[in-house]
Amino acid sequence: MKLYSYDWRFKSILRMNVMSLNIGVIGLGNMGRNMAATLVGKGFTVSGFDLSKETRQAAQECGVSCVDDLKALTSSSAIVILSLPKAEHVEAVCLGPEGLIHLLPSDSIIIDTTTSVPETSRLVGEKLSKKGIAFLDAPVSGGPAGAASGTMSMVIGGDESVYQSVLPVLEAMSRVRVHVGGIGAGNIAKIANNMLAAAHLVTTAEALTLAEKAGVDPEKVLQAINAGSGRSGASEAMFPTWVMNKAYNSGFTMGLMRKDIGLAKDLAESLGLNLPMTLQTEQLWQASATTISDDKDFCCIAQYTNADLFG
Ligand code: NAD
Repeated sequence: MKLYSYDWRFKSILRMNVMSLNIGVIGLGNMGRNMAATLVGKGFTVSGFDLSKETRQAAQECGVSCVDDLKALTSSSAIVILSLPKAEHVEAVCLGPEGLIHLLPSDSIIIDTTTSVPETSRLVGEKLSKKGIAFLDAPVSGGPAGAASGTMSMVIGGDESVYQSVLPVLEAMSRVRVHVGGIGAGNIAKIANNMLAAAHLVTTAEALTLAEKAGVDPEKVLQAINAGSGRSGASEAMFPTWVMNKAYNSGFTMGLMRKDIGLAKDLAESLGLNLPMTLQTEQLWQASATTISDDKDFCCIAQYTNADLFG
């Protein structure tokens, strides 16, 4: 599979102190709002835009100055961060009739933190490059809490010189960054990661169900798993923080995780791969929609395995 890599020479941006540049954030939901507030807290000048007026209001209350349309945002921003639900939103915001491709000056840089389709990242990156606008796909992990504390993990696809030119911005938002390859590679890495997270949530729920039905305290078994070789991000972080206490308030929805596991299935199919566990995980997450709606917390998938134990 070809990953595009453009020979960008963003000398003008590299020469400038990136701290002095205005940053625009598009999509001020659970992640975008917190990323924007973190950047404001670290001394960057940030403008935000979201389609929803209520969401703009919430961002304003977090200290982010909001504008009413993309035109106002792009008139002052040399770096634009996207935090949108899906690939189709990224394509519309970047390439649509009133999109960034028509609004941003050349030498601008777009950092797309949306978990998106690698092919869309490449298409958008290629079209923007013809206008002299650079693009990185830089999906994130860490949830709203990681975005609010600047401790997210980022996996980044795009040209090395572009990556280096915005490193101070990425460092302000994240604790760990892995530059994995050309445009699209960031989303491939993120899809692989979320495929595992989706599967581990289910297998951990099944492991605890097994233990409970066999007469052993699931809390104790979770401690044992986390001291053993079966541990994962699901057992170490998700179950203790959002499942066992029935909080279910991670800030990441069933709908977004269904999208991500669907992206893993689509990618496997496009490569002609037979990945039975991926397929089964995807089917289980989609089937769970009959009882758990898209707006519920993604950890509610544990309830689909065992409503008595985790409900
Ligand atoms: P969200 O639904 O809370 O926020 C998305 C925002 O984008 C919404 O406020 C929506 O109004 C806005 N939006 C949609 N179309 C727009 C447009 N054309 N112009 C401007 N704004 C627009 O979603 P989220 O939880 O913040 O997730 C954002 C992205 O980050 C998703 O791709 C998700 O998969 C990924 N992600 C989320 C988490 C998490 O824990 N929530 C963690 C890692 C990655």
